[in-house]
Amino acid sequence: MQLQLSAAQRSFREEVREFLAANLPAEIAEKVRFGRGVGKDELGAWTRVLNGRGWAAPNWPVVHGGTGWSLIERHVFDVECRRAHAPPLSGFGFNMVGPAIIKFGTSAQHQQFLPQILNAELWWCQGYSEPQAGSDLASVRTRADRRGDAYVVNGSKIWTSAAESADWIFALVRTDQNAKPQRGISFLLIDMTTLGITVEPLIAFNGKRLWNQVFFEDVQVPVENRLGEENQGWAVAKSLLGDERLMVSRVSENKRLLGRLREILAAGGLREPTVERGLAELAIRLDALEMTSLRLLSEADAGGQIGAEPSMLKLKGSELVQAIDALTFAAVGYWTAPLDSSLLGGNNEGPVGPDYAEYAASSRYHHLGFTIAGGSSEIQHDIIAKQVLGL
Ligand SMILES: Cc1cc2nc3c(=O)[nH]c(=O)nc-3n(C[C@H](O)[C@H](O)[C@H](O)COP(=O)(O)OP(=O)(O)OC[C@H]3O[C@@H](n4cnc5c(N)ncnc54)[C@H](O)[C@@H]3O)c2cc1C
Repeated sequence: MQLQLSAAQRSFREEVREFLAANLPAEIAEKVRFGRGVGKDELGAWTRVLNGRGWAAPNWPVVHGGTGWSLIERHVFDVECRRAHAPPLSGFGFNMVGPAIIKFGTSAQHQQFLPQILNAELWWCQGYSEPQAGSDLASVRTRADRRGDAYVVNGSKIWTSAAESADWIFALVRTDQNAKPQRGISFLLIDMTTLGITVEPLIAFNGKRLWNQVFFEDVQVPVENRLGEENQGWAVAKSLLGDERLMVSRVSENKRLLGRLREILAAGGLREPTVERGLAELAIRLDALEMTSLRLLSEADAGGQIGAEPSMLKLKGSELVQAIDALTFAAVGYWTAPLDSSLLGGNNEGPVGPDYAEYAASSRYHHLGFTIAGGSSEIQHDIIAKQVLGL
């Protein structure tokens, strides 16, 4: 098992570092650094800078505009991007529906969607969860009834992040009411401007519009917008992440957050003994997470078959983000009390306290969702117990 970067990988890291230093706009990096939101325009502009270099979709095949990098190189790239406070690109397009379109799409779908994702001209959201279907996704009830060349979709999706700004939604819908749950599902690509779609905001407890509920009432979707075969949507959904399921450790984000905590301590944060000791403990946990992640990535790069082990990365990575947030709270002290000034329409008062405190509370509340989204921690425990430990 090779855990040290090779000379070629180190020089690749240098190349990425230099590119970021020369091309990442300082104002965008500054917003990410302080936890301020990055707007769609800025994210689009940054996506196009990366796409100009051929680096927007490291996980796509070269023929579709990807990089052809190994998993370790993708890891290095990811760490460097987060280290420089680059905003992550839209995961819905690049990591979810893009790879699914590549694998299951027709050549017409390839041509229609892939270039626009690469160039940030088409933004997606994910329509999986429903009021009665979350962890148990096979229970989706939103139905799509075939009428000639179109499906008529009725039902609703919930917790749909970014639906308010998405152009299209990829959705799991029930196309066979009588089949066994996983067999009657299809995967549809739906234009959000279609008549009959309404989007209602759902506000998180940091006051931000983190999700939406999306309602479908007699929404006509052309059959040609189905991805994969009818009633085979479960297979599309399962393979949707492809190699992405190996990239769930959040090592890069954890490194960035731990680096921020060190900066905060250097800039006047509370250096109490519990904080100092906590910092050392978290650094050790992060090292262990990165080693485990690199072990799996290098095994996969060498052609090994990886089973359910990435569940460990998802579990530990999301828990670590929250542990770093908790310690950051302790280091920022009472300055975490005022929430950021952009909430509830904003106000014209400057932030109270040092700049590093401004978004500490809001970011912490936002990260609480990490142990739920993408498969809750309880589900990961279950998978690890059964499929990794064989209990
Ligand atoms: C920040 C965030 C963003 C999200 N964005 C999206 C999005 O863009 N699109 C989308 O479709 N969905 C999105 N979701 C929804 C997310 O996928 C679901 O919340 C998740 O799948 C859990 O489903 P649920 O909320 O219905 O909870 P439930 O599945 O009802 O679970 C409730 C509780 O029971 C536990 N539980 C359930 N089943 C088991 C079991 N078998 N064994 C042990 N414990 C169990 C769960 O761990 C949880 O604690 C998002 C969620 C969050 C937090």
